[in-house]
Amino acid sequence: MRRKANRKFTTGPSPKVPISHLRKIPGFLYTAEVSAKDFKPQSCIGGFASLTGFSLQDFLNRDFYNTSVVKQNDFKRLQRFRNSIAHKSKSRGINYHIISNEGKKLSVSEHVILLRNDKRRKLIGGIVTLTEKSGSKRANSRLEKDRLRFEKIEELNKHLIEINQLKDEFLANTSHELRTPLNSIIGFLTLITEGYYDSDDELRLFTRNALDSSYHLLSVINDLLDISRIEAGKVQLQIERVYVDELLREICSLFKVQADQKGLDLECSANSSPLFAAADLRKLRQVLINLTGNAIKFTMNGKVEITAEPQNGNLRFAVKDTGIGIPKEKQEKLFQKFIQIDGSTTRKFGGTGLGLVISKHLVEMMGGKITIESEGLGKGTTMHFTIPRWTKEEE
Ligand code: ADP
Repeated sequence: MRRKANRKFTTGPSPKVPISHLRKIPGFLYTAEVSAKDFKPQSCIGGFASLTGFSLQDFLNRDFYNTSVVKQNDFKRLQRFRNSIAHKSKSRGINYHIISNEGKKLSVSEHVILLRNDKRRKLIGGIVTLTEKSGSKRANSRLEKDRLRFEKIEELNKHLIEINQLKDEFLANTSHELRTPLNSIIGFLTLITEGYYDSDDELRLFTRNALDSSYHLLSVINDLLDISRIEAGKVQLQIERVYVDELLREICSLFKVQADQKGLDLECSANSSPLFAAADLRKLRQVLINLTGNAIKFTMNGKVEITAEPQNGNLRFAVKDTGIGIPKEKQEKLFQKFIQIDGSTTRKFGGTGLGLVISKHLVEMMGGKITIESEGLGKGTTMHFTIPRWTKEEE
């Protein structure tokens, strides 16, 4: 009964497609509005007409597919299934039957995902027949292609959702990172200009705090500028002979006060014979500063060690700490922009989540590779990276 009543919604030409064409196109994709009650399709690509013998216009009529194509017994189950997808972002599949315009029963499999784009939500569904004549290799390979295409869409969707969340987190973190030192500078300078200090020592302390916050603000801004210059391909390298032992000593003395303040041992050691890297000195220094800064930041007690040793045609640097460690499953992600292990932890420690991305870009631009090694939370971290060794021929 439902079937007949709904046919009158059909508008425009409704070509009757012979069932023999079914083998040619095994399925179709649709987008639909998220609705608890009706099925409101918005677009459809692929072989709906060839598969069912109904026109595309039929499909786009609200609820036509559910009430006139889907087998009556399966209708409620399909509706419940789509509603459940509309409330979860997980994609899922369902098998059911449809009846073609010529009355032929076909088994189909439908896979639906919820696409969120800003505040709008819609469903994307892919429907493929399971009753393809299995003798047709072409049909099977089309089915497989459709399935792969669908998996790609699904993957892309997950990726978009993730990027969107990262963007939000980044904006929240970055504005926090910019505002905190700025508020602190304003606060201390106000105390000074209003004369709210009791002694010269206190005046010096307030000035020192304002200055520290200014440096911190500068480093956040520099990180943001660096990453945008790198991504725009505007960073140029000046490869030269870098005396590694001297550079490591410089890094150590740069971080000595910070390490002492936290009661950490800081050791820098290069190989016994002098080592030379073929690198851009400023960029290599920047990478070591990023990694050593992180090692000290994320270590509460114990030791931070910076080493370099020859490995084939490269030098292998390691910045090793006994700090909070990094869970294995999170390690690879840290080289993606704006990723921090956990927003709340990082808020405690500060940072924008850009240091490792910048370091990875710089190391790779210099011809090396950077990797993380950590046995997990609480077990310390070692950041390794390679840089080509300076060879005699380059002199
Ligand atoms: P930032 O330190 O500015 O947040 P990074 O890109 O340098 O950005 O680091 C990204 C994240 O990687 C940090 O927020 C932290 O969660 C993690 N991380 C980096 N180095 C270490 C380390 N040595 N020990 C533990 N966690 C680390």
